[in-house]
Amino acid sequence: MDARLEAIRDTVLARNPGEAEFHQAVVEVFESLGPVHDRHPEFLDAAILERLCEPERQIIFRVPWTDDAGRVQINRGFRVEFNSALGPYKGGLRFHPSVYLGIVKFLGFEQIFKNALTGMPIGGGKGGSDFDPRGRSDAEVMRFCQSFMTELYRHIGEYTDVPAGDIGVGGREIGYLFGQYKRITNRYESGVLTGKGISWGGSLVRPEATGFGTVIFTQEMLKTRGDSFDGQRVVVSGSGNVAINAIAKAQSLGAAVVACSDSSGYIVDEAGIDVALLREVKEEERGRLKDYAARRSGVSYVDGGSVWDVDATVALPCATQNELDGDAAARLVRNGLVAVGEGANMPSTREAVAVFQEAGVLFGPGKAANAGGVATSALEMQQNASRDSWSFEHTEERLTDIMVGIHDRCAATADEYGDPGNYVLGANIGGFVKVADAMLAQGLI
Ligand code: GLU
Repeated sequence: MDARLEAIRDTVLARNPGEAEFHQAVVEVFESLGPVHDRHPEFLDAAILERLCEPERQIIFRVPWTDDAGRVQINRGFRVEFNSALGPYKGGLRFHPSVYLGIVKFLGFEQIFKNALTGMPIGGGKGGSDFDPRGRSDAEVMRFCQSFMTELYRHIGEYTDVPAGDIGVGGREIGYLFGQYKRITNRYESGVLTGKGISWGGSLVRPEATGFGTVIFTQEMLKTRGDSFDGQRVVVSGSGNVAINAIAKAQSLGAAVVACSDSSGYIVDEAGIDVALLREVKEEERGRLKDYAARRSGVSYVDGGSVWDVDATVALPCATQNELDGDAAARLVRNGLVAVGEGANMPSTREAVAVFQEAGVLFGPGKAANAGGVATSALEMQQNASRDSWSFEHTEERLTDIMVGIHDRCAATADEYGDPGNYVLGANIGGFVKVADAMLAQGLI
């Protein structure tokens, strides 16, 4: 790493102790930024990096609620408003027991660059709670969401901060959150949340956007080598919203998607995953992959283990951070891997990324490859602001243009900085320069 940036990095790490995921996200970005600071010493003089690593505002709050047995439960809520140089803070809410400040900050930090890359006017933020929706009734989830919003409402707004979903927060949760916001504020402020239902201000294609976008980005990477998804053997991790839509899109482009996973195990379906059955089990019944395996012949279910043991030519990690490590990466590379598109945020460890890059595997980092979700959220905000709703075709066309644009910008930036094909470098520099220029123009903020 560049020596000037090392000193800044050390200060950032020392100042944010115990936040391993935030450290990882910061270090990965800093490793790309040496050449930018050679060309733009004004960024160093203005302490852009030091400012960028310090969130503009961090909110931590108590979320009390009662479970179905009448017992009082207490969770912790977070919203980190990281950077508003390009627009209102924008980023999802994650409800998962692993959530703590270090996870929210890593996600919020990544979101700044991701959102900048989309070309849309959105800043970066993230939030969530250590609440675990799994095994909770709809009524419990509703009471939790209402309590969460009873604090969050005072910090958000269509011109301030616009949350959406992430792991554990889908259409059901956004509905309960929106209802409570509307009730407290007495405003039908559609643009305060994205990921809404289609009949009350949501956008078509938003549910599909992250998974579709990841596949579109990966297809663009494959095209640079005269290749495509057609005939690829694809393994996807996860089986939530991002994974399911990535599977559907890869299949529509002619790929054989043979495996996916949940937190208990994985399935191998050599005939190709049946997306309709997967949606039924996961989305309608909120069930598990072992239920999918029980209902379809020729499917093997592996309890525990790693889905990355299954050979693939294209890997789409769509589960969670640090799910794909150096050993898994090496095994995939040995068995003929050609490309990786990250549908999740930071799913590959730093060791895994190094293995992919050394082997010449096309590697699309999450902040570029999974930006289709937040980009379509920005399209939802546009529709809300103009009180309009667009057709599926028009919205999908916009998403495709945005993803191709992100790919081309990352590739052009990597070329410009002398490392063709390095999408990590291209995404980090491309996102950073845009935010840094805006921060410089806006004075000491
Ligand atoms: N949570 C998603 C992400 O990681 C989407 C955020 C949004 O739509 O605001 O980008």
